[in-house]
Amino acid sequence: MARIAIGGLHHETNSFAPQPASFARFLEADAWPPLSRGGDILANTEGANLAIAGFIEAARGRGHTLVPLLWANACPSGPVTEDAFERLAAMLIADLERALPVDALYLDLHGAMVTEHLEDGEGELLARIRRLVPGLPIVCALDLHANVSGAMVAHTDALVAYRTYPHVDLAETGARCLPLLETLLEGGRLVGRHIEGDYLIPLPWQCTEIEPAAALYALLRELEKGDVASLSLCMGFPASDTSACGPSVLAYGRTEAAAARACTELAAALAEAEHAFAGRLWPAEAAVARARSFRGAGPVVLADTQDNPGGGGSSDTTGILIELVRQKAEDAALALMADGEAAAAAHAAGRGSVLHGLALGGRHGPEGVEPFVCDWRVEELGDGKFLATGPMYRGNQVDLGPMALLSPCPAPGVKVLVSTRRLQAADRAIFRHLGIEPAAMRILALKSSVHFRADFAPIASEILVVEAPGHVIVDPCRLPFTRLPSERRCAPRSA
Ligand SMILES: [Zn+2]
Repeated sequence: MARIAIGGLHHETNSFAPQPASFARFLEADAWPPLSRGGDILANTEGANLAIAGFIEAARGRGHTLVPLLWANACPSGPVTEDAFERLAAMLIADLERALPVDALYLDLHGAMVTEHLEDGEGELLARIRRLVPGLPIVCALDLHANVSGAMVAHTDALVAYRTYPHVDLAETGARCLPLLETLLEGGRLVGRHIEGDYLIPLPWQCTEIEPAAALYALLRELEKGDVASLSLCMGFPASDTSACGPSVLAYGRTEAAAARACTELAAALAEAEHAFAGRLWPAEAAVARARSFRGAGPVVLADTQDNPGGGGSSDTTGILIELVRQKAEDAALALMADGEAAAAAHAAGRGSVLHGLALGGRHGPEGVEPFVCDWRVEELGDGKFLATGPMYRGNQVDLGPMALLSPCPAPGVKVLVSTRRLQAADRAIFRHLGIEPAAMRILALKSSVHFRADFAPIASEILVVEAPGHVIVDPCRLPFTRLPSERRCAPRSA
């Protein structure tokens, strides 16, 4: 049995978002654990839908000895600060040095980390690790949104990506890394192939529950057989300003021919699917009007995709809120408005009180977005600590800091869930924490691009993807890239 070092460093970087990921952001928990070292990694990830948790369970089942190093994640945002990256990388590498000798290394990585001083955070981290332990078998789990770079491929033996968006298969992905590592430990070989796509895919249309992604991942599963040990399709994170930005296919085979064949076939299918990555975007005014008049069973979900904190959004823009209030929507709830000052004011005032002239949200732009000022009734208060129940975050202890349910006095049918920390509105437990049963509402405005679908599609009568102001621009062609290769199209060509 082998002695395997394990760890992880996770950040999805929106190069164009305003809030940086400082070291403090990695220290705190949200729906995922805080920065953890040594045995705390095992305690903090047990049973969670996290890649490392799946790897740990699979490796223990096979009798391997695990040496936990460092695991850290920060909510998607603007670039990771140089200070944060250098401290975290130094800690991880020092922990690995202390753990030596080990037979192999497993890491949870995202694959779309950009720092203040580095274009390719993961590539640099892996290069430093390889310099310390040349020849050590290294296998990593990647997010489906990874922008896979040449350095990441060169400095690892295998990279294995999630296959679902919403990401419900994180633990499974970690478990799928173990047989690859065991192949290497037994002296077997894995030949890697990597093909980059020609075009960027907007986030809302990357969803694997709808076409064309559903068919691409079905093909992936078909092709992963025989001498093809692992096949991955990364959709890419289109808001990272890097030369590796975009989708790509990764294959690892027991033979060169098997890897090349599977990789080429899946990359060809990705190229052919280009025109099908499209969908309808609703302006906030029309979306709220339609939702108000809709009479289906279950709420209409308005996906505020451009303020998705899971894509680096500030989770405090007011485009949909303004329309909900202006149109005096009834039985409408909006989640999550990240505004620690407003949450603190609500807690200070107490339940049932009115906050006169409170300015809510709108503190981080983009241009034209202002705080929404009116009188607000404090309907409910919460400490922000609860257990997630949906398919993606299930079992995770969430900590969003003080929370409040506010309703604007001019439109009391609108309920705004205010939190101190950002989290994508992808779990019904967020609403229940403040006494709202989401299935009983008529309108749910969710700051999320796709992840909300895992827990909310089953209760939604209709889903409208809304284009309101925010930092997670749906159309990558509107982003001021400086590093995107000129031959890569910034969006899919339409049919
Ligand atoms: Zn992702």
